[in-house]
Amino acid sequence: MTVRQAYQDTIRLLREGQVEEPDSQAHWLFSHFFGLSRPQRALHASDLLSDEKLRLLRQAITRRIAGEPLQYILGEWTFMDIPLKVGPGVLIPRDDTEVCVRSCIERLQSAGLVPGRILDLCAGSGAIALAMADRYPEAEVTALEAMPEAFAYLRQNCSAFPAVRPTAGDLFTDFRLFPESYFDVILSNPPYVASKELSSLPREVQQEPAAALDGGEDGLRFYRAIVSCWLPRLRPGGVLSLEIGEDQAEAVMSLLAHAGADSPLLHRDLSGLPRCVTAQRPQASASATGLSRNSTDMTI
Ligand code: GLN
Repeated sequence: MTVRQAYQDTIRLLREGQVEEPDSQAHWLFSHFFGLSRPQRALHASDLLSDEKLRLLRQAITRRIAGEPLQYILGEWTFMDIPLKVGPGVLIPRDDTEVCVRSCIERLQSAGLVPGRILDLCAGSGAIALAMADRYPEAEVTALEAMPEAFAYLRQNCSAFPAVRPTAGDLFTDFRLFPESYFDVILSNPPYVASKELSSLPREVQQEPAAALDGGEDGLRFYRAIVSCWLPRLRPGGVLSLEIGEDQAEAVMSLLAHAGADSPLLHRDLSGLPRCVTAQRPQASASATGLSRNSTDMTI
């Protein structure tokens, strides 16, 4: 079978199997398994594919039709140009999370801060930690992850980045491992889906670990712990950047405002949806009076 025939077959099988966006899924499979980009596919359209290659392709198509996420089948996915190993047991890095990283960097830049110690809570595959390590090569980055399955990917993904320390630990108890005012930056994409909504997530998302998605009854369980247990681990003036669900902006902004965090800011993605909240720990003088420098919530 030629490349062109196999490609058309793949799209047809995926479409018949009710897989969304069959063209782009086929593109990823050909690019990953055969190293054929779009132009190369045209160039090699009449080449024959070996039986072994066709077997690999059929296996991948069957898994995809059965509802397995494409990224697990490929075994890797790229986040902000960083290739990450992924598979069952770890959350797949999403483009949405770029907002959390970029907003944090912008806030650090406008505060004139170059961080020395960065913490990624609920690090999963390490997407956020590694993107920050890439941006701030001088910084020491701690990536905390509680689930052993996810930790195995985290350790593997961090191996090329000596400045990133994968750390097995639980967000609800292991804040005690770190002194107060220790980090310059804390970022997190915690589980934030309300427990009762888990069963209505798309079938691919339901194959991702529930522990990485389940944010408790109201989806806010992790944010409460971050604000009460981890905000004090930020040094005064340090930056907190949290990914949020699109309907959680008000709740998370208010948790931060009640904790006296400085100037909570809401950040939206390219489609205008709320994706991230950043804030700073008040400078010592402001925190002593319980006042923040700017108590007005702002949206940018
Ligand atoms: N963005 C994911 C989803 O909605 C949730 C990720 C998370 O809980 N941190 O499927």
